[in-house]
Amino acid sequence: MSFVRGLQCRECGQEYPKEPLHVCETCFGPLEIVYDYDAIKKSISREKIASRDKNLWRYRELLPIDGEAQAGLYSGFTPLVRARRLGEALGVKELYIKDDSVNHPTFSYKDRVVAVAISKAIEFGFDTVSCASTGNLANAVAAHAARAGLNCYVFIPDGLEQGKIIGSAIYGPKTIAIKGNYDDVNRLCSEIGDKYGWAFVNVNLRPYYSEGAKTHGFEVAEQLGWKLPRHIVVASAGGTILPKLSKGFKELVKVGLVEDTGYKIYSAQAAGCAPIINALQKGTDLISPVKPNTIASSIAIGNPADGYYVLQAVRESGGWGESVTDKEILEAIHLLAQTEGIFTEPAGGTEVAVTKKLIQNGNIPRQESIVISITGNGYKTLEAVAGSVEKPLTITATLENFDALYQQLNPTVTAKAASG
Ligand SMILES: *Cc1c(COP(=O)(O)O)cnc(C)c1O
Ligand SMILES: [Zn+2]
Repeated sequence: MSFVRGLQCRECGQEYPKEPLHVCETCFGPLEIVYDYDAIKKSISREKIASRDKNLWRYRELLPIDGEAQAGLYSGFTPLVRARRLGEALGVKELYIKDDSVNHPTFSYKDRVVAVAISKAIEFGFDTVSCASTGNLANAVAAHAARAGLNCYVFIPDGLEQGKIIGSAIYGPKTIAIKGNYDDVNRLCSEIGDKYGWAFVNVNLRPYYSEGAKTHGFEVAEQLGWKLPRHIVVASAGGTILPKLSKGFKELVKVGLVEDTGYKIYSAQAAGCAPIINALQKGTDLISPVKPNTIASSIAIGNPADGYYVLQAVRESGGWGESVTDKEILEAIHLLAQTEGIFTEPAGGTEVAVTKKLIQNGNIPRQESIVISITGNGYKTLEAVAGSVEKPLTITATLENFDALYQQLNPTVTAKAASG
């Protein structure tokens, strides 16, 4: 049971069969999955989806596998949190957090794309999976590969946070750290992919892999009661998730699951690596590569493969984008934690800080509903915040010592009131 018709070049329209291909032979454009939407419309319904397990495969008609799902049976369906206290702090009426910081099993949005890629790799008969990663993707590929019993090689830039390195190594892949940044890793991986014939989830399986990102948007719509979000803000690195959210929203309209009420989509980048935002704000289609320099390592991609499609999706929706400094990112991590009890990594700090800026600048109206996508988890990047949290107050285990400390912290409260 599959509604996939095949692959098609985004640029020249040339069609290809369902194979592990990713670039057009004629024009080198990226290949996209083509579905039979008329058949899907006849087969799918809100009730049918609601009756299924709470994971990303509940939208299986709009995902590119042929048989049963082979990976990610517990991934997706993360909470959409109504964020009242953060909304108050930002001065807006209706704010939600789509919280992929608790995605199963590796705590980032990447568990979605990898679930689809690994399922597809198994269908294609690959025995080895691999990826070029800024950290989170490597974690997800290593974990899903372990569960599927596949060989695994992950490639990361050297100098990543401990949590991201150990968060891959624990699953037993070969972890290869490349001296340099992500763009160096990616260049090497294209050569390795051609030579070794592995399933590189974000290279030769990219058309399948990237479709998994749509499920983040499908869930937002379902969790809003089958409505499109009015405004949605998400980080951009290589440029996978943002255009796929947009594609997913349009598909929901096409197959009759939501009304076409429009949506505006906004890209968030760190000022230390903002090639897409630079182009967006200059009004050009030409993305000039940059050398990343930011604490937001998950989104530090200086030469984004699908940056052009981010620009296209943002502009077409009437949205916008902003970049924020590392200082603003750190403040936003603290703000989200202290208003909503959600601990995100610097990519999520970027998403919150950019939302704040877009509201302040009047790009997002305060009276309309807003969704912030939180794409990664802060427990993986403790280094980023270690210097900016309050240290524990250490005392010896006596009541007098605690009384003294309490007095110091609450000078206006009398000891009697405190003990009473
Ligand atoms: C990968 C990633 C993103 C977005 O990356 P795209 O390549 O643009 O899809 C956002 N946040 C986190 C935490 C990520 O790991
Ligand atoms: Zn082409």
